[in-house]
Amino acid sequence: MRPVVAGNWKMHHGPAAAREFARDLAALGIPEGVEAVVFPPAASMAAFAEACPPGVETGSQSVMWEEKGAYTGETSPAMARECGATWALAGHSERRSLFGEGDEESARRFCSALRAGMTAVLCVGETSQERAAGETAAALARQLAPAAESFGEGRALVAYEPVWAIGSGDPATPADAAEGAAACRDALGRDVPVLYGGSVSPDNLASYLDSGAIQGALVGGASLTAAGFRALLAAAA
Ligand code: PEP
Repeated sequence: MRPVVAGNWKMHHGPAAAREFARDLAALGIPEGVEAVVFPPAASMAAFAEACPPGVETGSQSVMWEEKGAYTGETSPAMARECGATWALAGHSERRSLFGEGDEESARRFCSALRAGMTAVLCVGETSQERAAGETAAALARQLAPAAESFGEGRALVAYEPVWAIGSGDPATPADAAEGAAACRDALGRDVPVLYGGSVSPDNLASYLDSGAIQGALVGGASLTAAGFRALLAAAA
């Protein structure tokens, strides 16, 4: 499998900025040997998907578990697909901590993406308190459990993102990331691809891939400019 570089823009870049990013990225060129995907905000997915160069996929930062209905603020997998998204995230730590999405709900969103034929990424990670208490593996197992069965369906990946490493400038060491990835595989009882996320930069990305335990990276801050994203692709290629 080619290493995955996934850029999570969170709530950055409206449609005009997304189109500009796509144009700049096309001008810089996409290195071969790497799988690239960008997760714009819902409002910018279609604009990005229409303008992005070949070799770059579009993803949805979240999807609903129903196809339609009275769910204000939500996006169904079919709607995301219509906007050009072929990937979806579920369970990002910001969805969990800021919007109260728990393990069951994250699993429902993840399964919904898989049912729609999207590549689904379930994000999991321990807090600093759980880590200090020696509860990392238990936290990961708890978060993965409701989605475990679905890892046999479609294309499903885990993003191991220690909460304390996200946006903090304090990345996990490659050894810690490999240990977290192993705990995820143990909990699922199968050999799933695991991305590492948490303060990844072009300078440290290769160190995670080198261990062989990590198949790519989910990157927030360092993916926000075309030049930065291109540098991440080059580091992984
Ligand atoms: C993320 O958004 O999932 C993330 C890991 O952010 P950052 O790379 O900024 O730590």
